[in-house]
Amino acid sequence: MKTVADIIGQFENPTEADKHLITKAYDFAVRAHEGFTRYSGEPYMAHVASVGFMIAEMGLGPRTVAAGLLHDTIEDTPVKAKDIKENFGEEILFLVEGVTKLSSVRYYGTDRHNESLRKLFVATSQDIRVLVVKLNDRLHNMMTLRFVPKEKQLRIARETLEIYVPVAHRLGMGKIRKELEDLAFPYVYPAEYKRVCGLLEKRAGKSSEILEKERKILQKKLVDSKLIDFNTSYRVKGLFSLYHKLKLKNWDIDDVYDLLAMRVVVSTVEDCYRTLGIVHELWRPLPGRMKDYIAFPKPNGYQSIHTTVTTTHGIILEIQIRTRKMHHESEFGVASHLTYKQPSTTDNPTVGSRFSNLIPSLFRPFTKQSVSETNILIAKGIPDKEKIPQWISQIGLLSAKGKSSNDEFINDLRQDFFSSRIFVFTPIGDVVDLPVGATPIDFAYTIHSEIGNHISGVKVNKKQVQLDTELHNGDLVEVETRKSAKPTKKWIDIAKTSIAKRHIRAELGLPSPK
Ligand code: MN
Repeated sequence: MKTVADIIGQFENPTEADKHLITKAYDFAVRAHEGFTRYSGEPYMAHVASVGFMIAEMGLGPRTVAAGLLHDTIEDTPVKAKDIKENFGEEILFLVEGVTKLSSVRYYGTDRHNESLRKLFVATSQDIRVLVVKLNDRLHNMMTLRFVPKEKQLRIARETLEIYVPVAHRLGMGKIRKELEDLAFPYVYPAEYKRVCGLLEKRAGKSSEILEKERKILQKKLVDSKLIDFNTSYRVKGLFSLYHKLKLKNWDIDDVYDLLAMRVVVSTVEDCYRTLGIVHELWRPLPGRMKDYIAFPKPNGYQSIHTTVTTTHGIILEIQIRTRKMHHESEFGVASHLTYKQPSTTDNPTVGSRFSNLIPSLFRPFTKQSVSETNILIAKGIPDKEKIPQWISQIGLLSAKGKSSNDEFINDLRQDFFSSRIFVFTPIGDVVDLPVGATPIDFAYTIHSEIGNHISGVKVNKKQVQLDTELHNGDLVEVETRKSAKPTKKWIDIAKTSIAKRHIRAELGLPSPK
């Protein structure tokens, strides 16, 4: 089990106050979870200690780490909100309650409304730190999923792929996304997983030695070209993302050009372009494969130069070139703005991976090495205290009117629904999004016109209500129908959505307005 010392050891320059806070949260969690065990038979504390550790490892501040240690107290133990507030203050209570609330956003096994569910998930979190805690909570749950009863595994793994992975992706958190999807993959698509493993083994079985050789050649060339301040690493493509690629390529693994990738991380953008020139001088580039995501970042903010080359040994290799800052952001996304840890400037030997133990032994050799890419993230920086950029802390605030941000996703969130949409649940847990001010009539017609046309009564949060009741975020809405029930003219004024108004007019035989 991770100890307090393990967690504090992840901090660069912890103050006495930081150490005190983490120790206090750890001891509090030990007492709260005493006597509870996980499905694995481990003490429950092992779970929250791991979550706290992983958050510290990502470089977040002591309050977020404390929230990670305390994240299951309110939900799973007799601890009350006021106990957390008295002992740790409002901010940590806010984070713990945020994580607790997120447990109610659940995937119920239908693919409808997944996009709404993802948005609801982000909106409910209210603060990016809540999402970071929740994503790490899920990561540890996925690492220990094999101990969970069989009938629960599939739902949890699918929820991970449908909700957590896209959220991590949209927030640019590439590292946690890759880990989550590779952990969920074998549960959700067992046959495909085996097939991908088989193809990869055949094709990339001996690739780690070859990659190591090629890496040495590239390193020497970069040094000869007077480029000094750089790190190189390589990775084998994640199994789940390889699966998606293979589906597009008729399962021909020879058509997957980024199966093996070498990464060069340098200090400046200028050095990125210099490196590109050096690489193309060394190895022959494949035509049309160069992508400049530095000049044209991906929608989630990802920046890098990609090019595909054939090495002198005939190996097809994708080369990814980026600055340290870009690398840090591609691993941690929006959370990178919250981290204390700064990318280091020198090569660092391998960091152990929490992931490598879980991979079938057949992949261990190169998975382990592919993880060496994380070595660039060892911290050397000066703590920046828990300063949260305003636009990040405002994620999820319904009245977000902060400064305009270039981030497409955040803007999308604000315009699309913070100001104008609400999310309500059906009795079976589907999420339906509606405009602000929508009523049960709008809800019913959004589900199906036949339900709208025969409403006989409505319950919101298990209570009978009038048809003109305004719905609110998170309401559970149940519509009762009766064959003989019919809409009235008044409903046209009550309804807010054009789809409901149109159906009501049609049912009443009224002409549609021009
Ligand atoms: Mn948990």
